[in-house]
Amino acid sequence: MKRPVRERAHAIRLSAPPLESLSTTALWDLHTQGLAQFRHQAPPTSGEHSWLSIKRALATRELEHCNFCVHHCHINRIAGEKGYCRLDAQAVISGAYVHHGEEAPLSPTFAIFFGGCTMHCVYCHNWRETFALEAGQAVTPQALVTAIVQHRESVRTLSLIGGTPEPHLHTLLTLAEQLPHDMYQPLVFNGNGTLSAQGLMLMEGVIDIYLPDYKHGNDRCAWRLTQITQYTASLQHNLLAYQAQGARLIVRHLIVPAHLDCCTRPVLEWLALHCPSAEISLLEQYRPLYKANTRPEIARRPSATELTQAKQWLTELALKTV
Ligand code: SF4
Repeated sequence: MKRPVRERAHAIRLSAPPLESLSTTALWDLHTQGLAQFRHQAPPTSGEHSWLSIKRALATRELEHCNFCVHHCHINRIAGEKGYCRLDAQAVISGAYVHHGEEAPLSPTFAIFFGGCTMHCVYCHNWRETFALEAGQAVTPQALVTAIVQHRESVRTLSLIGGTPEPHLHTLLTLAEQLPHDMYQPLVFNGNGTLSAQGLMLMEGVIDIYLPDYKHGNDRCAWRLTQITQYTASLQHNLLAYQAQGARLIVRHLIVPAHLDCCTRPVLEWLALHCPSAEISLLEQYRPLYKANTRPEIARRPSATELTQAKQWLTELALKTV
């Protein structure tokens, strides 16, 4: 089995005083040194701190002015403040279990369903679990590691899902650091492509497979249906960054009724042009859930004609399927 990329992040060692005594700037400087070693595939080094532990310390420090995602809230989550995602520092999940419903190469997976999201889709299929944070379960990274280890023999991958994992970088970096070193299952980041530049740097060297959604083909539809601004530029920036990290990239696209020409077509065209090695997972299971009935054009399932059209474009554009 291929070794997970986090093993290399463990092997990069850097010398420095205790991490908690360092300023945030000094931690980022150390992280940059580790990043250079990682990208140049430098031979193992010696030092008190692994690059992974520096990432974990940085993510925890960054919670004091959170900038994990494209909302750039800069609020102090350790002090209990909450931004767009409505999460403070406490990790909240709606479940963690062996899941057989992911794409075939990823299943079965041990899936952690994190609460909270950086988007607010009117048609969210997991809205109860995602937005009802008070119904979620508070967990520690240690408890999640224990649960993962109990199921290690029966899963192919470890999936960080949601909601979306972007607001949980401090938890998942602690988890990655604590996973047994002889555990080879790849880490899958099943997010919505909203990491900030800092978030992208923190995830490089940790994530083996990115599994983002590319939902809408223009900012107008994205704002109307998911309440996020500047969606296209930030999503495309994230997809290119995932590719540049050398991680496996599987892009999901949910076929939304009446959004074929404005969304599905431009999404697939952009992927064919800019991410030709990405594997595409077309999702056909759209149903008008949550608040979808407030938008008349999406208050139905996609028609057979729409599903056929989307698959035809996929073939015409010679995109790889997962
Ligand atoms: S994760 Fe994103 S939405 Fe949540 S507080 Fe941080 S910057 Fe804001």
